[in-house]
Amino acid sequence: MLALRSLLAVLTVGLLASLTPACASETDDGSTSEDDYTRKKGKLQLVVTVDWEGRDLREDNLLAMQELHARFPQVKVVHFLNAGYYTKQGARPADVTARIQRAIAPGDEKALHIHGWKRLFEASGVAFRASPTFWGTSLDPHAGDCLETDCGHEVPISLYTSEELRKVVKLSLDTLEGNGFGRAKSFRCGGWMAKPNVRDAIAAEGLKYEHSAVPTVFLKPKLGTMPVYSWLSDLWQGTTNVSQPYAITTTTTPLTEVPDNGALADYVSTQQMIDTFEANKAAFLADRSKNVVVSVGFHEETAATYLPQLEAALQRMYDEAKAEKIPFESVTSEALSAPASPH
Ligand SMILES: [Zn+2]
Repeated sequence: MLALRSLLAVLTVGLLASLTPACASETDDGSTSEDDYTRKKGKLQLVVTVDWEGRDLREDNLLAMQELHARFPQVKVVHFLNAGYYTKQGARPADVTARIQRAIAPGDEKALHIHGWKRLFEASGVAFRASPTFWGTSLDPHAGDCLETDCGHEVPISLYTSEELRKVVKLSLDTLEGNGFGRAKSFRCGGWMAKPNVRDAIAAEGLKYEHSAVPTVFLKPKLGTMPVYSWLSDLWQGTTNVSQPYAITTTTTPLTEVPDNGALADYVSTQQMIDTFEANKAAFLADRSKNVVVSVGFHEETAATYLPQLEAALQRMYDEAKAEKIPFESVTSEALSAPASPH
């Protein structure tokens, strides 16, 4: 993609030079500087993601997501959808589908998210594992929520073998596709725990983009004392708020790893999102030939609580990009490119 874009840029420059040798014209980012024609055209790419946890589909959260689309129609949301809603006790598929659809706009991406829900794993033919959870605890699979509704959200799916995970990934992809959401190409792991066995499973099941790399510095205030924090610190060591997409090998096809470099709104303030935007904007301005990605997001289950601070950040990003004539564009995974060689 980059090579083709560069070729087009060269052709465009040549054509414009022959037609308008001394005349500045308006460019696609609205500026009128002749110098723009000598620049290669990268973009500052905005990736807005939402993790659907598979817990519930409350009215207030769905309304908050509809309001996000109404306020920012130019934002394409990457929905990491969860098949766990369909395997809940007594779930009515038509109702689940209708609720999820309310939050999805035509340009959005339908992707995949998986947590260690007991009923989802058992529906996939995999024996449930109850420990250790993100918090270092054990669940009792024969009591409480495990019996009455569902449990396992806090069990990292990296506890399972790649073969077991392939069954859950396949059931999830099939369930979402069967209910009209298409076949996902992108994945984010529950609790960002996409260890190599998880990545092998999703690659083997045809997924192309993996969005779990996260700067753990953002998670420290809320999770710093929990086992999941040290697991993630090891897993995503070196990931920062300016980390960019890279190729990552698996036992089958390589994946494009897309760092969740601005983390999710439950863990970061509006100002921290702005700081992430500023850091990536600076990287973009240092070399405008390359796309630079800034990723921010939230959870469906806490959208009503945390979307206001994400929306405040988005407004400031768009205002600043407009004022400074930065080519800033909301994209989905297919617009992202990774370097050809593995990271
Ligand atoms: Zn999640």
